Amino acid sequence: MRISKTRCVGCGNCVAVCPVAAISIGSDGRAAVDPDQCVECYTCYRGLSTERLNPTLVRGFRRVLSWFRLRFDPAPDVCPTSAIEPEELSWPRVVRRAFSDPLVSHEATGVHGRGTEEVKTNDVTGRVAVGECGLTVEFGRPGVTATFRDMDRVTRRLAGLDVFFEPNNPVAQLMEDRDTGAIREDLLDERVLSAIVEIKVEMERVPEILAAVRDAADESETVISVGASTRCGPDGEEPLAEILAANGYSAWRGKTNLGLGRPA
Ligand code: SF4
Ligand code: SF4
Repeated sequence: MRISKTRCVGCGNCVAVCPVAAISIGSDGRAAVDPDQCVECYTCYRGLSTERLNPTLVRGFRRVLSWFRLRFDPAPDVCPTSAIEPEELSWPRVVRRAFSDPLVSHEATGVHGRGTEEVKTNDVTGRVAVGECGLTVEFGRPGVTATFRDMDRVTRRLAGLDVFFEPNNPVAQLMEDRDTGAIREDLLDERVLSAIVEIKVEMERVPEILAAVRDAADESETVISVGASTRCGPDGEEPLAEILAANGYSAWRGKTNLGLGRPA
């Protein structure tokens, strides 16, 4: 994202809407985007309405009012001069938007958002079988971004433990080799709002995998969260909850799916 120096009047409205604090007002009194921190989420561009006031007039007006200790500020949800301008994104930067703007679908999977739909439901393909555990390893949260280097550190470690990476997952699609977990070299410094890696393992290996993620998280510069899912027994038993509790993790049943989905 870019902010036009000729159009910006430095009102600061866009600073508050950026979820990763990539926008600041410089010593020239105009807003600027830090290109390393910006994840191309388009929140500033879509989140503010726009007016097309003349920037020179607005600056003059603000200057004159300031002599009388008065201010002219636009409504807080408006960029008064339409100064926020999306840039044409090329590879590898375009990946930032694919992972950070929920209105954009991933080219590889055609899915909006960060993971596959089936990871939330296991309802159509039955990806996670009886005796298995599906795990999501999530990197970053709004305000705490993640780079592919953060992810690469963890995916390599998981690959060393011989986990199964879901091939349709957007991060897996960007691996050079799913056997090693290595993510494409040209993406490692790209930053996104957040991303999810989807894996599955045999149930008894869950503690080993959680310990590995925890070790990797200690070396990471972002926040890492793990979600776990499994099939309940015929009477609703939850073998996973017992394993988690025995290893010192608290477990809450966040979502229950009934298996009503069918392949289209
Ligand atoms: S909202 Fe528009 S005019 Fe105000 S600081 Fe941001 S880019 Fe500049
Ligand atoms: S595109 Fe998103 S990250 Fe970039 S400056 Fe705008 S709000 Fe901030």
